[in-house]
Amino acid sequence: MKYDKNNIFARILRKEVPAKVVYEDNYALAFHDINPKAPIHILIIPKGEYVSFYDFSEKASPELMVGFTKAIHAVIKSFDLQKSGFRILSNEGSNGGQEVPHYHMHIFGGRPLGRMIPQE
Ligand code: AMP
Repeated sequence: MKYDKNNIFARILRKEVPAKVVYEDNYALAFHDINPKAPIHILIIPKGEYVSFYDFSEKASPELMVGFTKAIHAVIKSFDLQKSGFRILSNEGSNGGQEVPHYHMHIFGGRPLGRMIPQE
């Protein structure tokens, strides 16, 4: 899938659209999800044009991969989520239910999160 430079997260990265930013460094930007599914629901995106995890893990530099992982760690630490636990999750493609075509990881916490995948 070709990267769409006008997807909402690309626009947030370019600061064209506001977001409640909680963390930023050279590799990543993290902000509150606009429609939170848990008391803490943060989205973290890499700084680069990657559609999804598959795309990112194929094309991103080792430096960016490490930087992005460390940025996720920093967000987890900043909310103290390592004590009570949390979930990180990335949706991909149509079966994954991905809505925004810029790679992002969800970070959920603040309550027991239940089963890994809700049963239909
Ligand atoms: P998904 O692509 O399915 O992993 O989910 C995209 C997520 O982005 C959803 O949880 C939305 O609530 C969230 N979202 C969409 N637009 C915005 C926005 N402008 N600011 C913050 N979160 C957003």
